[in-house]
Amino acid sequence: MNGFYEFGISDKTYEIGEKALKKLKERFDEIDNIAEANQAKVIKSMQDAKVGSHCFVPSTGYGYDDAGRDTLEEVYANCFKTEAALVRPQITCGTHAIATALLANLLPGDELFSPVGRPYDTLESVIGLRPSPCSLIENGVTYAEADLLPDGTFDYEAIKKGINERTKVVTIQRSKGYKMRPTFSVKQIGELISFIKNIKPDVICFVDNCYGEFVELCEPTEVGADLMAGSLIKNPGGGLAASGGYIVGKKELIDRCGYRLNSPGLGKEVGINFGVLQSFYQGLFFAPTVVASAVKGAIFAANVFEGLGYEAVPNSTESRHDIVQSIRLGTQEGVIAFCEGIQAAAAVDSYATPIPGPMPGYDSEIIMAAGAFVQGSSIELTADAPMREPYAVYFQGGLTFAHAKLGILKALQNMVDKGIIK
Ligand SMILES: *Cc1c(COP(=O)(O)O)cnc(C)c1O
Repeated sequence: MNGFYEFGISDKTYEIGEKALKKLKERFDEIDNIAEANQAKVIKSMQDAKVGSHCFVPSTGYGYDDAGRDTLEEVYANCFKTEAALVRPQITCGTHAIATALLANLLPGDELFSPVGRPYDTLESVIGLRPSPCSLIENGVTYAEADLLPDGTFDYEAIKKGINERTKVVTIQRSKGYKMRPTFSVKQIGELISFIKNIKPDVICFVDNCYGEFVELCEPTEVGADLMAGSLIKNPGGGLAASGGYIVGKKELIDRCGYRLNSPGLGKEVGINFGVLQSFYQGLFFAPTVVASAVKGAIFAANVFEGLGYEAVPNSTESRHDIVQSIRLGTQEGVIAFCEGIQAAAAVDSYATPIPGPMPGYDSEIIMAAGAFVQGSSIELTADAPMREPYAVYFQGGLTFAHAKLGILKALQNMVDKGIIK
């Protein structure tokens, strides 16, 4: 009898998992080494900013001189090796963090350029590619992009052509989002930024770092990114932050983000902490090991499903640059059965059944399996998929590896029980 017996996992399914795990020992050791170095980096960032228990005190009103808030921003700046940071519970999600960074630093007549193809679904509304009030395009900003080459690498010729005298910000999305393209390594992002700065030294290189934090030893801001943003209900919140986003980068750019988030004239000086700061600090403290669990879960899933004949992106042996694992299940029934399995393995809302439905900011119906302590948190074990070809499921997170393993085996078992996998 296996340890997941009560979840309906058959010995045969469990054995498939054990066989995959046997091959992964060395890779898991490598992930633990990265977590160890990142753990040290986070602790050092906190020590250098002199984090103390006074930083966890709630503030009220305008939030002037909120020491906990200002110290947390210093910690993020230390950790991501930048001049400044904006880290706030008032940033509602990753999209809001990215939108704030872009809207703050692009003025009418400026152009935004993406050298990595079309960005994440919700950013189509931010840019105005899907017309939306208050979008960049409505504000008189134009947008241009260069697609990736068919093999997923940068099209340097098209990038060179795409940059002009109006190009003010270049936006680089690290993670694949809902695409089958590869996620970029920090090294690749550094090479891309060097190439772009050679063409136009004063351009602002922005990186959407969602899902990338702490997967590698260094971050895009250490290889030339001027501005970078992400969500606290993904990697850097460590599963404890209940909301929030971060933006890090050059001081002058971050100051503008403060004015955009709050108000011209007020900027970073205002905004209370709602008593959430201990969870932000402690979440960042946990983030390196939580991210390691999630990366292990992703690699485990790739190995299990590839062994059953499915295409995995990244594949079972590739190096990792984010926590997202895509598995091409090929059919609507496969995607639904997988997501039901993930949901059934959750500690919270395990009795709910995920069904495809419309989501604000997305243009296909989306199915989401999310039995999370924090609503929609995708550093927790979650699976989602747009209901469109090639019917690939995007799987990520897992605050502990044991939970990720249970979820993946339950997803597999559900597909077996429904006759989708023989
Ligand atoms: C999740 C994500 C976003 C948007 O974040 P939300 O918190 O869902 O608004 C943007 N870009 C990428 C690559 C993401 O993975």
